[in-house]
Amino acid sequence: MNSRPYPTPATFTRARSGELFETAKTYFPGGVHSPVRAFKSVQGPAIFFERGEGCHLFDVDGQAFVDFCCSWGPLILGHVHPAVLERVQTTAANGMSFGTPTPHDNLIGKLILDNHRFIEMIRFVSSGTEAVMSALRLARGVTGRSKVIKFEGCYHGHVDSMLVKAGSGLVTFGISTSAGIPEAYAQETIVVPLADPEALESALRQNAGEVACVIIEPIPANNGLLLQNIEFLQFLREKTREYGVLLIFDEVISGFRVGFEGAAGLYDIEPDILTFGKIIGGGMPVGAYAASRAIMENVAPMGPVYQAGTLSANPVAMAAGFATLTELLKPGFYESLEEKTAQFTMHLQAYCDTRGYEVTFPHVGSIFWPTFTRKHIHRSDEIDGSRMDFFKTMHLECLKRGVYFGPSGYEVGFVSAAHTEADLDFAAEMICESLDVVFEG
Ligand SMILES: *Cc1c(COP(=O)(O)O)cnc(C)c1O
Repeated sequence: MNSRPYPTPATFTRARSGELFETAKTYFPGGVHSPVRAFKSVQGPAIFFERGEGCHLFDVDGQAFVDFCCSWGPLILGHVHPAVLERVQTTAANGMSFGTPTPHDNLIGKLILDNHRFIEMIRFVSSGTEAVMSALRLARGVTGRSKVIKFEGCYHGHVDSMLVKAGSGLVTFGISTSAGIPEAYAQETIVVPLADPEALESALRQNAGEVACVIIEPIPANNGLLLQNIEFLQFLREKTREYGVLLIFDEVISGFRVGFEGAAGLYDIEPDILTFGKIIGGGMPVGAYAASRAIMENVAPMGPVYQAGTLSANPVAMAAGFATLTELLKPGFYESLEEKTAQFTMHLQAYCDTRGYEVTFPHVGSIFWPTFTRKHIHRSDEIDGSRMDFFKTMHLECLKRGVYFGPSGYEVGFVSAAHTEADLDFAAEMICESLDVVFEG
């Protein structure tokens, strides 16, 4: 049915990947530079990829895969989109970095600010983590307060004060989830469950006058896809206003993904500060934070909140971002992407329903999450960790058939503009076969 060298269960191999991974482990902790890449929660070894094209990845063993990881979200146009590649190549030919303003800054700045109703100024940084770290500092600088409220099950990068989970009992101060975080930092973070208006209000009331901001992934997509009711997000907006607390939408995943205005636009809720990453750099390392002019004027050199970066707004990265965002503004872009994703997940759901498999595919825009339950999950504590074994089997069986998911059942999948209907039909067929193995052996 295709001319691409997809593996089959009989031919699938990781011979070369396995060798490279063994060598990598002698150079780098776990063989990787970001933990989830190490295939710890699925069957390894990690696969080494050497090329991407459209929605396909090609590994060092010469096999092709339909890619649903898309570099964890940035590649909404797929790999090496011609317009992005061209702009990156011509920009790089003129120099990789100047440490000065460049015309690309203004191009992408105007493009974003003209097309996002909730922000008036933006600052570019080099990662989502850096965007969040800077946004938190800004919120603290503007309010003169130090505590931050976050939600259990939301990920905000590896910022010290964000690597915390809820403590047990009624004490809601954070407990760090990583070594190396001073207790005092975790103490500045208050953790509340998602989808729980009472817990949120009580945290705001108990800490009134001390909280700088509440930070949330409005579409929580780093611990499964924990879709929130719009009423909860509206409540969050009302209560933060009532208590004079800033609201940060961490849109590093959802920004430019569920629409050009991200989740803020989708739900029509105006946060005080937004953070971006992933898509905004079109595959290059870029993050950003943005807000009203009044808030952003607090950032150095205009204001007292210091934040800087040698490679911030790197011209090649700005070029990739500009070329990518330009494509997203073309009429019908999001509609067609969403329609494809809805068809694809419907296809999978219908198969699972017919077979009686306990799997659902919650989705929003072009984000979807294969999850081994029929319940609608809003909070991380509703995820049954023991069912991740099903994902582990599915992941391996999909690999053997040429379909690549991020190597963890807590990660979402992404459909890109480069996934054609034929690619998605092929992938759906292979995923269904894989689910047969999961449930019927
Ligand atoms: C990916 C992500 C981050 C961290 O971004 P990095 O570029 O990996 O540092 C922060 N917040 C959210 C919501 C993310 O999805």
